[in-house]
Amino acid sequence: MSEPLIIAGTRPELIKMAPIASSLRRLRVSFKFLYTGQHYDHELSRTFISELGLPEPDFDLGIKAGRSATLTGEVVIRTAEAIRELDPALALVQGDTNTALAATIAALKEKVSIGHVESGLRSYDWRMPEEHNRRMIDHVSGYLFAPTDRALLNLFEEKAPGSKHVTGNTVIDATIHNMPRAEFISKIPQKLRFKEYVLATAHRAENVDDPDVLRSFVEVFQDLPLPVVFPAHPRTVNRLRGIGLLQNLASHRNIQLLPPVGYFDFLILMKRSSLILTDSGGVQEEATSPPIRKRVVVMRNSTERPEAVEWGFAKLAGTRKQEIVKCAVEMLEADAKLPSTSPFGDGSSGEVIGRIVAEIVESTRKSSLTLLPPQFPIISASED
Ligand code: UDP
Repeated sequence: MSEPLIIAGTRPELIKMAPIASSLRRLRVSFKFLYTGQHYDHELSRTFISELGLPEPDFDLGIKAGRSATLTGEVVIRTAEAIRELDPALALVQGDTNTALAATIAALKEKVSIGHVESGLRSYDWRMPEEHNRRMIDHVSGYLFAPTDRALLNLFEEKAPGSKHVTGNTVIDATIHNMPRAEFISKIPQKLRFKEYVLATAHRAENVDDPDVLRSFVEVFQDLPLPVVFPAHPRTVNRLRGIGLLQNLASHRNIQLLPPVGYFDFLILMKRSSLILTDSGGVQEEATSPPIRKRVVVMRNSTERPEAVEWGFAKLAGTRKQEIVKCAVEMLEADAKLPSTSPFGDGSSGEVIGRIVAEIVESTRKSSLTLLPPQFPIISASED
């Protein structure tokens, strides 16, 4: 019987796949792990892999982050080679990255069934490359692991053909599992210049590649009533340098600019913050997790995670300075209690997905066509 293959390339994928890897280990289902290396910093991602208790990758493709189409093409070719070598029962991809899309194409062309973790999210914002990726992945995956009922509904509305399961989001498992270790291990509190602060992250292409939006973020950070701690993504640092604002930000007395930090440090930064400002997807989810429970100003025009807004954790502020500052001040002053549970699950998603994967593996016979769930259309394999 062949094994499932876990595929990841960026920090959110590593964070969100780790609970599934642990669950498979508990269920004694052996698996293989392929790491594409899409992450901008190979050393830092190695830290993530060991912090999260993921095994050493069976395949480390070492593909450098670069232009989207080139990276996607390279990941397709190299992942297809690994898939041919392994003949996995199932290829598990996560989220909406170029790695996830490329691995999906590779698996599809090698006639291996795909399990999409975090399926069914929709921003309906076609400027976002992530929206292109998640839609394509959802429509060719055999197994769709939707984190919420809303995500499931999106899949039904679009008639995505794969077998659908509501599983919660493994990011909640990750925060619950890792926070106690983070509290013990992280040294980040000693490096912080401020006791009370707003935590900020920004890296979405449609934001940081637009000089007007990036400039408005910098002005927001300078105008908030509390100081800002800002672990900046390399893409953002480059864009700030490009518009001549990096120095200005780095030397501001109310802003602490940091390089991207490890996961444990980031958990602690979230937990100790008074408010979070972000355009990240994962951070919107993590903020709702019981060990963190923080309000979030989403610096975007759309979100594929509306549950955080509906539950009162998040506000969609757009990308203009005045609106973001207004939202931030309102949220800093808000005294209503936040829900004690998360809309994204209770920390058992890894277990739920692990069990389904175990069943798929169990029922897998050697013939490649039987790897597809019954309701999934069989694709002609004539090109071979
Ligand atoms: N994160 C981290 N260090 C940082 C910033 C973020 O470990 O300096 C983690 C964070 O906990 C979250 C994930 O990275 O789980 C989010 O990644 P990102 O914002 O890059 O991607 P997205 O979730 O928007 O796809």
